[in-house]
Amino acid sequence: MPRKIRPRKCACGCGAMTRGGDFLPGHDARTLSAVISSVGGVAALRTLVENALKRRIEVETE
Ligand SMILES: [Zn+2]
Repeated sequence: MPRKIRPRKCACGCGAMTRGGDFLPGHDARTLSAVISSVGGVAALRTLVENALKRRIEVETE
């Protein structure tokens, strides 16, 4: 049975409706870029998230 499609507002803030996901195609990447820029880079974002979660984020190094 197909999952019921429940349109909702795109989480990027563009105001468009999705077909059930959080974002329209490509808008998740745009949002991620904006989030990274807003804190000054990936390292700063990692620190912020680690502080919020109160734990280290493990990164695969292989
Ligand atoms: Zn959007």
